[in-house]
Amino acid sequence: MSESTLLKILRDASPARKIIEHANQHDMGLADGEPFPFLALIGQEEMKLALILSIVNPEIGGVLLIGARGTAKTTAVRSLIDLLPVVTRSLCENRFNCTEQAIEKDGLGAVCKACATKFGYQEALTRQDKMRLVELPLNARLDDVVGGINERILTEKGKVRLDKGLLAQADNHLLYIDEVNLLDDVVLDAILDASAQGYYTVRRGPNNLTYRSKFVLAGSMNPEEGTLRPQIMDRFGLRVVVRGLNDPADRFEAYEQSLRFRKDAESLSAEFAEATLALAGEIQKAVDLLPQVEISAEAKALGLDIVRQAKIESGRAEIAMFEAARAHAAADGRTTVTAEDIRTVALLALRQRQSPKLAEFFAMQAAEDKTLASLISDTDESGEKHDD
Ligand SMILES: [Zn+2]
Repeated sequence: MSESTLLKILRDASPARKIIEHANQHDMGLADGEPFPFLALIGQEEMKLALILSIVNPEIGGVLLIGARGTAKTTAVRSLIDLLPVVTRSLCENRFNCTEQAIEKDGLGAVCKACATKFGYQEALTRQDKMRLVELPLNARLDDVVGGINERILTEKGKVRLDKGLLAQADNHLLYIDEVNLLDDVVLDAILDASAQGYYTVRRGPNNLTYRSKFVLAGSMNPEEGTLRPQIMDRFGLRVVVRGLNDPADRFEAYEQSLRFRKDAESLSAEFAEATLALAGEIQKAVDLLPQVEISAEAKALGLDIVRQAKIESGRAEIAMFEAARAHAAADGRTTVTAEDIRTVALLALRQRQSPKLAEFFAMQAAEDKTLASLISDTDESGEKHDD
């Protein structure tokens, strides 16, 4: 089979100059506030791969970028803007993921009753929607995130109106939280709950509104500035450790690249426009292929074995690993996940999931259970304990 273009573009992206083609700088029509071109990022292969997999398959559960300041984490996330795919959204009112494709594949029983009825009336169960990047502002308050009472309308008209929060706006899109470890616990909990359920409810006095909120979550954090609780860490599908560049030549190239971007963002973007367009097309192909991708028995056995040997409790580990492996196969233009796909994504999905505290707790609990069990079996109906 010929090599997949998507993975090839990613691999060849560094050093970036290899793929620069003759781009016509006058025909691009680039707007102000151009994001840094994804393909102009030097090195950071793991981060790039994790970001692409996360947008190819939202079921992975998003990505957390862990690294020091100045390692291009935010730049990398913003550079995805030109690569975000068009995706098929379910319009299911019961918040299931009912689609026409599911019916084509498995019949009417594959969707909920309401959607089956709609299908019967030839109404659409899905719509096509381009993914957007929504950034959570630093110092966001709970009201900004879940929505709150519109103060202006309240003062001017004396009426209570609830504004949509950022989470509702992020529905179906990519939500980025910079410095997620510095976020207020209440705010972060609200985001993670919505992310897990795919919706959230706001109660303000007699008003009670539920919003859909299914999004791909991307976060970044600097471990020097405080850690995340393990249960929060666990909510991110993939974890990338972002290190500064090792090779002095790479560092210098990154410096030159960022200098060029600051001087003339348009010309840098134009230089990468053709390759960016090609990559965006490949990402779209992977998104479209994903529903057909299945996990081979060999890949399944390997994945489960790795999780067991790593002694990971959280079931989110398998979800992230297998879904990332499916995205990787799709990115490679295949419909079957191989053991090699598992090996490529396992570290991203499994790191930071082992819990020494939990292991210690279970060991103590096992000891207590053993003592209790022998007590329970050795004590007869008269209440006497007998040793035999
Ligand atoms: Zn439905």
